[in-house]
Parts: sequence; C-alpha cells; structure tokens
Amino acid sequence: EAKRRAPNSYQFFGTEMNAQLQERLVLETQLRYALERNELQLHYQPRVDANSGKILGAEALIRWQNPQLGFVSPVKFIPIAEANGLIIPIGEWVLRTACNQNRLWKEAGLPPLRVAVNLSARQLAQPNLVDLVAQILAETNLSVDDLELEVTESLIMENVEHSIKVLQELHEMGITLALDDFGTGFSSLNYLRRFPIDILKIDRSFVNNVVVNQEDAAVTNTIINLAKDLNLHITAEGVETQEQFEYLKIKGCDEIQGYYFSKPLPSSAITELLQKNHQSLQQKVAAV
Ligand code: C2E
Ligand code: MG
Ligand code: MG
Ligand code: MG
Repeated sequence: EAKRRAPNSYQFFGTEMNAQLQERLVLETQLRYALERNELQLHYQPRVDANSGKILGAEALIRWQNPQLGFVSPVKFIPIAEANGLIIPIGEWVLRTACNQNRLWKEAGLPPLRVAVNLSARQLAQPNLVDLVAQILAETNLSVDDLELEVTESLIMENVEHSIKVLQELHEMGITLALDDFGTGFSSLNYLRRFPIDILKIDRSFVNNVVVNQEDAAVTNTIINLAKDLNLHITAEGVETQEQFEYLKIKGCDEIQGYYFSKPLPSSAITELLQKNHQSLQQKVAAV
C-alpha cells in the first residue's frame, strides 16, 4: 500500500507544505547566483554616541534584491546561506565590500568611522578567518581600528572552545568585538567572562518596550550594569523613539543604533550624512 503510493507521496504534505518547499527551493537556487549577478548590496546603519550625537560607526547590513523574488530579508536568506555553505563566499564579500567602502569614506576625508560586520557560525568555524580578515584590511589599507566584528552568543556556543580561540586571535590583532543580540541567548555569565569582547549590544526586543514594560526595563538595566562591571562598552539597538533614547542615555548606554537616528542606508546616503557633519543627529541628542 505504502509502496504503491510512494510516487505521489507529495500529496501527503498538502498544498501549503508544498508551497513552502517550493519557495525554499527557488530561494536556494536564486541565492546561488546572487553574488555573480550583483544582486547583493550593503546598507549601513549609523551608530551614534549617546552624548555627542556623533556618528562613531556603522553596521553593514546585507540586502538582496532578486528580479524574481523581489526584496528578500536577511532574516530569511542568511540562515539558508548558513545551512548550505554559501555564507562563506557571501561573508567574504560582505567583509571586503564593507572595508572597501570604509576606505572610500576615509579617502574622501570624512571623519573616521568604524564599520561593523556580522559574522555567522560557519565563518567563525572556517580555518582561515583570521588570515582573511588580516588580508582584507591590508588590501583596503585599513587599520584594525576601522573594523568591528559582531557575533552572537548562540553562534559562539555552537563550538565554544574553537570560537573563543578565534575571537581571541582577532582581539589580539586589535579588532573590536561586539556581542550582538545580547540577552536572547542562553550562555551563562561564566562563559561571558571568557569571551574576549569589547561591546555588548542590547537586543532590540528589550529596547522595544523599555519605557512601557517593567520586565524589559529590568533586563535592560541589568545588562547595562553587567557591562559596566565587566568594563564593556554598551550599545542599544532598535531605538525608535526619543523616550527610549532618553531612558537608555540616562541609564548610561554609550552608543545608540536605531531608526530614531537613522535606518540602514545605502553608502551614498551615509556619505551625505557624514558630509553634513551629522548635524541632524546632534540636534536630536541636544533635544534630550
Ligand atoms: P542584527 O545584526 O541584530 O542587525 C540589526 C537589525 O535590526 C537589522 O535588521 C536592522 O535593520 C534592524 N534595526 C535596526 N534599528 C532598528 C529599529 O529601530 N527598529 C527596527 N524595527 N529594526 C531595527 P536587518 O537588516 O533586517 O538584519 C537582520 C539580521 O540579519 C541581522 O540582525 C543579522 O543577524 C543578519 N544579517 C544582516 N546582514 C548580515 C551579514 O552581512 N552577515 C550575516 N552573517 N548576517 C547578517
Ligand atoms: Mg548585528
Ligand atoms: Mg543585533
Ligand atoms: Mg538581531
């Protein structure tokens, strides 16, 4: 009976499951050609000094525009690239493109900016990551101060000992390391102490309701105090309103990233923002 039905087994999945598998298949196929077809782009989101309103850095965020699929969120395609290994060439492209853009900003005489690049678990596991980073910095004529790398707790926890070793090497090179989405992972404080990191980034799920929800405020305060005790810099991501900004600034957050100051923008728009000496941002800080 089962054997007789096997050729039509897709029927058991139902049409909805089928559509999902179909979509995933199209996405994977298209993603294979995304790099060579120039469908990938980086946007940059400013990170602003909570006290001066100056742009200290920008996070590079990947964007994929495909003729067939339209805009596909990195939340959707990064996990797929991670699963099928495409994240290795894509990740290298991100690193190189971000560093190259930073060199262009530097050469244009704009105030120095630290560009932050997100790393994935596979990248951290690849044997030559440290060499690759050093090579790209040399190629683009940047110093270690010009680059920051972002990793998440869950990424580190996939292979703790190896991750710590690689992060240590990057840290010893002088590269700034940030722990992204902090508060959403499951690592114990004991591990946190062992991570060679410089910055904690409070996840935006806490920031979102920090003004209206006591629990989220409590978690946020705890993270900020923890960062201070461990001598770490603290960045809040996902700050959308003046009230959130005010709250975080008073609590002692060093840097702010979020729509309140700026959405992620194409490099040309960042250039304009920097050329205008980020006046608009400084006004927002002064208003608080
Ligand atoms: P992430 O590294 O935590 O990046 C921050 C995300 O929050 C970005 O989403 C950004 O656009 C969004 N965001 C920033 N401020 C606000 C705000 O005020 N409100 C709201 N609602 N959202 C805000 P995005 O660009 O969709 O990226 C999502 C995730 O995809 C990133 O989270 C990161 O995990 C991953 N990702 C993006 N680019 C790369 C990349 O080049 N490499 C790797 N490995 N992962 C990437
Ligand atoms: Mg990030
Ligand atoms: Mg994050
Ligand atoms: Mg996130």
